[in-house]
Amino acid sequence: MTGQTDAPELRTGRCQCGDIAYEVTGTPDDPHLCSCEHCTHLAGGPAMSWVGFRRKSLTWTGPGGEPAWYATWPTLRRGFCPRCATHLVSVADDSEVVMVTTFSLIDQRGLEPVGHSFRHLAVPWMSVARAPDPAHH
Ligand SMILES: [Zn+2]
Ligand SMILES: [Zn+2]
Repeated sequence: MTGQTDAPELRTGRCQCGDIAYEVTGTPDDPHLCSCEHCTHLAGGPAMSWVGFRRKSLTWTGPGGEPAWYATWPTLRRGFCPRCATHLVSVADDSEVVMVTTFSLIDQRGLEPVGHSFRHLAVPWMSVARAPDPAHH
């Protein structure tokens, strides 16, 4: 450990093009990977990485304002940048928590996943934490 254990109170995140940006505050809740059918399909990869914050703590701060929304369940919608398509948040209608994609955050310190949702659906090779560098084959 580096001794830098104090997570910042305010965190900022943004999409790849910068049109949609946000701030969240407070203690991060349940950082985790998810390999459900929706996350893998939307990501085009083996999992998405999520972390929760108080829904009320989130403010949209980018020039594009709020993201575009797409409902993957009748009661759950996901926010993404309409310009660059970066996946940013997931919100369930009756929840006080907003899940943000870990890698849309600028500072990811202290957000290592503590769990893996839909782990049984994850591809077996996810046990490879870091594959070899192709340049050194
Ligand atoms: Zn964007
Ligand atoms: Zn999922």
